[in-house]
Amino acid sequence: MHLKGQLHIHTTCSDGKLTLQQAADLYASMGFDFIAFTDHDHLLKSRYRKAIGEIKTDLLVFIGIELTVSTKLGYIHVNRIEGDHEVLHTFNHPGDYDFTIKQTIQCIDDVARDIQIDAVEITHNGFYTPEYDIEDIAYPKVASDDSHTRLGCGRAWIELDCARNRDSILRAIKEGNHSNCYTRGQAKAAAMAMVLA
Ligand SMILES: [Zn+2]
Ligand SMILES: [Zn+2]
Repeated sequence: MHLKGQLHIHTTCSDGKLTLQQAADLYASMGFDFIAFTDHDHLLKSRYRKAIGEIKTDLLVFIGIELTVSTKLGYIHVNRIEGDHEVLHTFNHPGDYDFTIKQTIQCIDDVARDIQIDAVEITHNGFYTPEYDIEDIAYPKVASDDSHTRLGCGRAWIELDCARNRDSILRAIKEGNHSNCYTRGQAKAAAMAMVLA
């Protein structure tokens, strides 16, 4: 089954402007199949998990948390997204930290000693940061919104083909069996160039 998903959303449960229900409704209206709420650990409302369970939506919803992780180079963010048995950890928005590429790779390695990093974001607030979409960062790459407002929703997403359940989706991402909204466009452009050549 072809699925379109969002792995990084903030709501009024931390520093976002939309409620959980408003965010779910907006992503549903934009043709998404699954979404992960990833509110900040240090701002999290105590009712978070219960409130996510009470959302009325046809979307497949993941409970996630954006963790603030201390490293030698400073604080960075990691999303922990929960399936039914699987858990996905993504190293978030590397463009946010003012690291060189070498420092970014070192930092990911550093974090990966304590937390199993499964994928690295190649976006900053939903905008493509191609400098991190490189083989030297040897992880599957994911595009996400990191949305905090209505306008921030729907800029970046992933797509994949798998069974419509949480664990299948997380496993597919860990294996890199997904495409990002950007790489998909590039693949299409490359295919067109070959056809035209
Ligand atoms: Zn963050
Ligand atoms: Zn975030």
